Amino acid sequence: MEKVILGKTGLEVTKVGFGVLTVGNTQLNLPLEEGADVLRYALDRGINFLDTAQAYETYPYIRKALKGFNGDLVISSKSVAVAYQAMEEAIEEARKEMDRDVIEIFLLHEVRHNGDLQLRRGAWECLLEARSKGIVKAIGLSTHHVDVAEEAADLPECDVLFPLINFRSLGIRKDSGLGTKEEMEKAIQKASEKGLGVFGMKAFGGGNLTGHYREALDYVYNIPGIHANMIGFGHRREVDDIFSYMEGQLPGDYNPDIRYKKINIDQGDCEACYACLKKCPNMAIFINENGLADINHEKCLTCGYCAPVCPVRAIIMF
Ligand code: SF4
Ligand code: SF4
Repeated sequence: MEKVILGKTGLEVTKVGFGVLTVGNTQLNLPLEEGADVLRYALDRGINFLDTAQAYETYPYIRKALKGFNGDLVISSKSVAVAYQAMEEAIEEARKEMDRDVIEIFLLHEVRHNGDLQLRRGAWECLLEARSKGIVKAIGLSTHHVDVAEEAADLPECDVLFPLINFRSLGIRKDSGLGTKEEMEKAIQKASEKGLGVFGMKAFGGGNLTGHYREALDYVYNIPGIHANMIGFGHRREVDDIFSYMEGQLPGDYNPDIRYKKINIDQGDCEACYACLKKCPNMAIFINENGLADINHEKCLTCGYCAPVCPVRAIIMF
């Protein structure tokens, strides 16, 4: 697998990273052995870049997969912490749970618009200090927002940007509305020109674009300024597929089998705006007992029409 230097961090990473969220309890919820097996399989095949987060609860999979593994590795984790102490605890938790002295990259997780970055100044100060102590090598932020990506590019202490980008603009935000892929591309390019390492998330729009496998990957791997992309894997065969793609060996008529995947609504993200209810042509979305949108899988045809209207990317396929 080809490697690149991740901007001014100097870290050398594979162009495909493993988004560990997929194996954890908010998505496939794989048994520990099974999730660690897919992860170790990817590491043994040559992927050296992992994305995780305090909120994903996936550190045990990584710890298990790394038993006896001696290859080079770059782990990126993140926390939604706002205050200094909460971020300090998040970094310590990551080091302890994954049994690592150093976490190569640590980020503010999902920074939103409207002063969120300023609000989280305490957490940012903690990241700066962790970097100066050497327990973290590079710091930055992950975001779905074009305006935040632009802010990150202008932040001199920021090493890394982890933005959401895909060819249908699914989930991209700008100010309090929707953003476009073209706007995010510009922010990415700006960040890259300023020396930040940039790796993208949601190339498949949370699973909704998996049926456009090649198109989705062709798009993110041709954006100027993106060094790598995090891809979620739940099976060894999906790891094999990405290697075939990156090596130019994927058959032209390749179409992944997505029959086993279902559209779901992340109950932690849904903001009850109900835009998706109006969009569904099959009346497959209902309001559950918590007042949040939910899917009736007996009616859902996984057409994906609902996902683009969700302002918070709560509708995902897994
Ligand atoms: S569009 Fe998204 S945020 Fe709005 S109700 Fe549907 S799932 Fe929830
Ligand atoms: S995927 Fe299609 S059928 Fe399923 S809930 Fe969304 S709009 Fe409705």
